[in-house]
Amino acid sequence: MRAAVYLDHNATTPVLPEVMEAMSDALGAVGNPSSVHRFGRGARAVLERARTSLTALLEWPDAEVIFTSGGTESNNLAHHQAAKLRHFVTSVEHDSVRACVGLSEHLPVDADGVLDLEALDRRLSEHGAPAWLSVMLANNETGVIQPVAEAARIAHAHGALVHCDAVQAAGKMPVRWDLLGVDLLTLSAHKIGGPPGVGALLARPELSLSAQLRGGGQERGRRPGTENLPGIAGFGVAADVAAARAASYGEKVGALRDGLEDHVRRTAPHARIFGSGAARLANTTCLGLRGLAAETQVMALDLDGIAVSAGSACSSGKVSASHVLRAMGLDDAAAGSAIRVSLGWDTTQHEVDRFLESWSKLASRARDKASAA
Ligand code: PLP
Repeated sequence: MRAAVYLDHNATTPVLPEVMEAMSDALGAVGNPSSVHRFGRGARAVLERARTSLTALLEWPDAEVIFTSGGTESNNLAHHQAAKLRHFVTSVEHDSVRACVGLSEHLPVDADGVLDLEALDRRLSEHGAPAWLSVMLANNETGVIQPVAEAARIAHAHGALVHCDAVQAAGKMPVRWDLLGVDLLTLSAHKIGGPPGVGALLARPELSLSAQLRGGGQERGRRPGTENLPGIAGFGVAADVAAARAASYGEKVGALRDGLEDHVRRTAPHARIFGSGAARLANTTCLGLRGLAAETQVMALDLDGIAVSAGSACSSGKVSASHVLRAMGLDDAAAGSAIRVSLGWDTTQHEVDRFLESWSKLASRARDKASAA
């Protein structure tokens, strides 16, 4: 049997060997970071080392780092800070941003999924009161990169607070806080070679965040509950690796993705590559084959041993029409025919070729179906 090919790195990434080692060391050591004795101090040192790794990854030395249970909790904690403000979010945000506030306004994007900055400026002017903006750095389905720095400048000129979900961007492109200029930023460990169930919210220290949970003084009272020390230790090491790879990730992984897309364009002109007119993450391609449901494609590829996703598919495994593609102006049929292929640092040309071999059969099916119709 041929080895399975994993091309779903935006859903989750394999845990790095050095991360497993750090986690195993942390699991083997006793000590609660809140204890004052030597065991506690040892545990606290692990925690603080990981905090420093995260601030180094973002080149944000004075950030307040709050460890959480993942990107979803971090996004919720971020939004909790301004529950009474009007929330403006791009219409392509992850559900953990879109769903965590009741009163939110969805900002339009263009056909490539890029935030309309003029609309942002206009809506904030019309609102005329302090507001909250959430804009992701890179989209999980298409890889499209948002003009976060420009959006933050506009929002700050209107006195708004700005949050950025950088869960997908971290590890796949350099993410420098000083160039983004946002007030709060979300990270998740399992998207960068760390373990699932750990994340962080980074914030300007002067914001003095308020806790969403109650019942303990951990994380300076911002996030009660005994810290997931093994997970956090692994997160720190994953951040170190991501920082070391950031400069070369685009070239290394992008060469494979671009080759994949060239092949698609040459051999299947009826296929669509969503978001390809915009700057994108180097590892992501969102391919549409009109007339073939995404679930059918995912299952057929799976039978050939290739793992990809349909839609955003990172929460329940159930596939519903992608709100991201709908926001880009696609109808249900087009949005329902899109699969996401996301490569990783260790993806090989052979694996991409295996994908293309299998996908080409689907592309032929879609073409035959269209010509028979
Ligand atoms: N934000 C984005 C852009 C994501 O892609 C995801 C997960 O796929 C999340 C947030 C949620 O992160 P977590 O799985 O750590 O809760």
